[in-house]
Amino acid sequence: MADRSFLDWPFLDDHHRLLAADLEAWCAANLPVDHTDVDAACRNLVTRLGADGWLGHSANMERPELDLRALCLMRETLARHDGLADFAFAMQGLGMGPVTLFGDEQQKQWLLQTMAGTAVAGFALSEPASGSDVANLATTASPDGDDWVINGEKTWISNGGIADIYTVFARTGEGPGARGLSCFLVPADTPGITIEERIDVIAPHPLARLTFANMRLPASALIGTAGKGFGMAMAVLDIFRSTVGAAALGFARRALDEALGRVSTRELFGAPMAAMPTVQSSLAEMALDVDAAALLIYRAAWTKDDGAARISREASMAKLHATEIAQSVIDKAVQLHGGDGVRSGQMVERLYREIRALRIYEGASEVQKLIIARQILDGVAEN
Ligand SMILES: Cc1cc2nc3c(=O)[nH]c(=O)nc-3n(C[C@H](O)[C@H](O)[C@H](O)COP(=O)(O)OP(=O)(O)OC[C@H]3O[C@@H](n4cnc5c(N)ncnc54)[C@H](O)[C@@H]3O)c2cc1C
Repeated sequence: MADRSFLDWPFLDDHHRLLAADLEAWCAANLPVDHTDVDAACRNLVTRLGADGWLGHSANMERPELDLRALCLMRETLARHDGLADFAFAMQGLGMGPVTLFGDEQQKQWLLQTMAGTAVAGFALSEPASGSDVANLATTASPDGDDWVINGEKTWISNGGIADIYTVFARTGEGPGARGLSCFLVPADTPGITIEERIDVIAPHPLARLTFANMRLPASALIGTAGKGFGMAMAVLDIFRSTVGAAALGFARRALDEALGRVSTRELFGAPMAAMPTVQSSLAEMALDVDAAALLIYRAAWTKDDGAARISREASMAKLHATEIAQSVIDKAVQLHGGDGVRSGQMVERLYREIRALRIYEGASEVQKLIIARQILDGVAEN
């Protein structure tokens, strides 16, 4: 059982502690699931997470504010048990993030379905030529009477191919670059959408490249104000970035647990591995990394929950540090397992594959460094 002492930290309230205990019990009873067919597994996870009320935390019909500490706790708990369960949970929130934060009452009706687990959500921002460079995206949305007509291509779209509803970012041209983007709510059965390619990755999840050919949307599909799409995407990522760090933290905690189990039970040279100073040094580094990441994540989440309008610096630090240390913690756990560490299907081998993409999506590590540097330089300029 992973170290739970962080639950006593003052960043968390009693309802968070109860939530963590309840979800832990749910995970122990329901996870991991069979990943052989990731589409079916993912749909099934969304259904079960919804039916048992967990997806209600991914959106809020009355208040756009989300309980970020709850989201982080949930992602780290789910990730510790099953990466696909964390993915299924997270995408319902990220996919509907623009609606939760900026949608009108009619658009929010979709939240009832995504929270109940009866509709799967996707977030379509990245394009073949603009993943990190979001402001440069090329998909267009042109007004035509009361409608919008969308043309373009999106790639790396999580839940692409199984989603029922997407939020899609497109260029509407109110201004240059970032100042000319808007966000639209797009049911997956809208004529003009094609799933061009399903993408296989080292830790399989439903992923696809989509195209839009003269896809016609009513005026009511526009989320918020035309031209404000870039700020909306950044506000959504501001929230969900800390939760990517939390998922990485869940993977790292599981790796530390697995390593502790291994070194406590395996003997080498006539003594338990756990008695070897170099092994203890690895364990100490892993535990230190895990605690430091947790502090950054719950600092970011607490800052948001405490009323901060934006947490760009805190969220970027949390995501950057947690994903980078998780990679290193998992690598140490693989090493401590020897040959078993790279045996297909072993938990540490799965974690080794699961963690890699988290250092790339929702802003690669280098992009997080740019954001942090910009924030601290702005602070210097203001003083
Ligand atoms: C598993 C997975 C799931 C994803 N899910 C989604 C999704 O649901 N929706 C969605 O819209 N997108 C999604 N993405 C896309 C993801 O956000 C992009 O892959 C990511 O933003 C990087 O963009 P890119 O792949 O085009 O790489 P590029 O933009 O070409 O960047 C390549 C590398 O260049 C470096 N780099 C980038 N910018 C800088 C810089 N400013 N300074 C220095 N170095 C830099 C980084 O190391 C980066 O990894 C997903 C990606 C993956 C792998």
